[in-house]
Amino acid sequence: MKNSPIRAALGAATEADPRWAQIKLRDKASDGAFVYSVKTTGVYCRPSCAARLPNPANVGFHVTPAEARAAGFRACKRCKPDLGKAAPHAKLPALYLVGTVQGQRGFFRSTDGGATWLRINDDQHQWGLVLQITGDPKKFGRVYVGTHGRGIFYGDPKTNWPR
Ligand SMILES: [Zn+2]
Repeated sequence: MKNSPIRAALGAATEADPRWAQIKLRDKASDGAFVYSVKTTGVYCRPSCAARLPNPANVGFHVTPAEARAAGFRACKRCKPDLGKAAPHAKLPALYLVGTVQGQRGFFRSTDGGATWLRINDDQHQWGLVLQITGDPKKFGRVYVGTHGRGIFYGDPKTNWPR
């Protein structure tokens, strides 16, 4: 199985993809443009991840962290590809959750490591059963929501930070 024609073709397909070159360079400018998954470890990473370069035959490309998770991969603990871009002047990455905060059900963002949460949706936008939520690593405040049966949505804040 190790040197099967299928594996060779998978490796060649990855190497032919321009995103592979960005991974090899650990190109920080590509962070947020895509993530890559590694079949053998089950994790997905930012292009700039400092982890050892995987065998190209095991690599998959995903547009968003939510897409990688939907494919069964989990976030790399080293490069934390699922954290949103920090607010301007904030040191901590933005966090997002779907759930109940102080008795209110909704989508929430925290810019202080989870100490306080700001609701980012309204009652008209609940999207049914939400399976995934993640922040954009390049654009503060943009959030992606993976729903049950309705695909992936994203939204930007109505007003600009800071407020
Ligand atoms: Zn990583």
